[in-house]
Amino acid sequence: MHTRARTLLTAVNGTTGAGLLLAWLSGATVRRGRDGVLIAEGYARRVPAATCFTVGSVILTRRTADWLLDERRTELFHHESRHAAQYATLGPLFWPAYWASCGWSYALTGSYGARNTFERRAGLAGGGYVEKPLRPWMARVARSPGQRRARPGS
Ligand SMILES: [Zn+2]
Repeated sequence: MHTRARTLLTAVNGTTGAGLLLAWLSGATVRRGRDGVLIAEGYARRVPAATCFTVGSVILTRRTADWLLDERRTELFHHESRHAAQYATLGPLFWPAYWASCGWSYALTGSYGARNTFERRAGLAGGGYVEKPLRPWMARVARSPGQRRARPGS
């Protein structure tokens, strides 16, 4: 998705407005970022605990904009920018879809990110997530149906 289209869509669908409102309510300072994404630095609320999170085309961070724009954080910046593209596509539906995906991931692995489709598509490693194996009971359920049908009477 073109960065201009992303910026425009997140403005029109209201998610960037929500991000700016959250930045203002939390006392964060909004700075120009890169590729049409704004950075709200100095976010200090306890929730979410992450160093960075994105709402519309606004990346809210506990650190500074310079910290996030440093070339050592390129992957993290791209990860958060891909979330902005997800907001451009889904608009406010991003939130229920994201939380459902967190629940799904947690049920499967005990991690909110590992099997979360939004985090996977944004790039797990870039967001600081690691692959996690399925929980043992889930791994049994996920086995092929043929294996389960093999035992007669069960
Ligand atoms: Zn993420």
